[in-house]
Amino acid sequence: RRSVTRMTDAYYAQDVPDTHRPYVAAPDRHRKLEYRRVGDSGLLLPPLSLGLWYNFGDNRPFDTQREILRRAFDEGITHFDLANNYGPPYGSAEENFGRMMRTDFAPYRHEMVLSTKAGWDMWPGPYGMLGSRKYLLSSLEESLRRMSVEAVDIFYSHRADEGTPVAETVGALDTAVRQGKALYAGISSYSPERTAEAVAVARDLGTPLVIHQPAYNMLNRWVEDGLLEALPGHGMGSIGFTALAQGLLTSKYLGEGEAERSMQRPSFDDAVLTEDNLERLRGLAEVAEGRGQSLAQMALSWAIRPGGVTSTLIGVSSVRQLEENLAAAHRTDFTDEEIAQIDRLSGYTEEVDLWATSADI
Ligand code: NAP
Repeated sequence: RRSVTRMTDAYYAQDVPDTHRPYVAAPDRHRKLEYRRVGDSGLLLPPLSLGLWYNFGDNRPFDTQREILRRAFDEGITHFDLANNYGPPYGSAEENFGRMMRTDFAPYRHEMVLSTKAGWDMWPGPYGMLGSRKYLLSSLEESLRRMSVEAVDIFYSHRADEGTPVAETVGALDTAVRQGKALYAGISSYSPERTAEAVAVARDLGTPLVIHQPAYNMLNRWVEDGLLEALPGHGMGSIGFTALAQGLLTSKYLGEGEAERSMQRPSFDDAVLTEDNLERLRGLAEVAEGRGQSLAQMALSWAIRPGGVTSTLIGVSSVRQLEENLAAAHRTDFTDEEIAQIDRLSGYTEEVDLWATSADI
């Protein structure tokens, strides 16, 4: 005979174990941020979008990743930016995001703008990098599988490639859209000249490029040399990346926040921490203090100020950083004096411009 466990009062009096609770998004999430139009398209993006380059790989606790994503969505961030090789290891950010898609965000998929990209190195061999049709379309298939979605909202050519005709790369973006695997097409780190060429090809094909994703921060202003100015004429919007120069434009290297340096990124070069540069950062932190902002907040506000980019990506390793950064969305006005001080203290710093290899060709 089978014994029957009786549910006694003692059983019900036990502490409730810490069990997984299904995610229910904050009901007021749509009222937290003012969404902005991307070029001449119908697409709106939040002023700050969340990037998953470095803090969503397998070397980060999944519960922290989940906490950041949930809070971001609750706070009105609708756009999540990925690429095939985000991690580490490559592919793991999309995989971890896919798990969250299945467990938490599936009911909200239609409220989210998801992007992925292909162009930089992903897998070994001749078809795992650059701009061929073969690479882009194979990679997109893999990304969709990892992310557990049928389509992304934006598919990007992640970098310019001198060796592949622009028409082939842009043709692959057009195919992705026609196949229903992406809703919009974009390009990243293309020079103004190559952008104009890509725009013309895309128009002819009937799939306009709606967005450009360039590096843009106070220490890397290459986009101010013609690109930002040209985008409205192309009907394109922009989403800047690395607005904090991978954490350099925060207080973490100025003493107080040293403990915040959670993981040394292979892409962050300590050579940039010269006394000269630290002096500039201290000056910028003073300008920020005068505005009642932290240096990180001012750097983000500056990127999305009138005349800046449509949206800027933020990379965060904690909810605390996310909360600090989100406040920047509500303070994008700058006095002429503040702009002049920032111009004097910042300016091009070669070591933070890792993407020049694409933008220069
Ligand atoms: P970032 O905003 O310049 O740097 C993010 C890092 O800054 C965080 O990981 C964190 O470092 C630190 N940080 C952020 N907020 C902070 C705060 N309030 N106080 C102290 N430190 C803070 O961004 P990024 O990670 O370089 O890039 C952002 C996104 O842009 C990426 O996720 C990706 O989506 C996109 N992106 C695109 C390309 C492209 O080629 N298209 C290239 C690069 C990036 P810790 O992690 O050490 O805490």
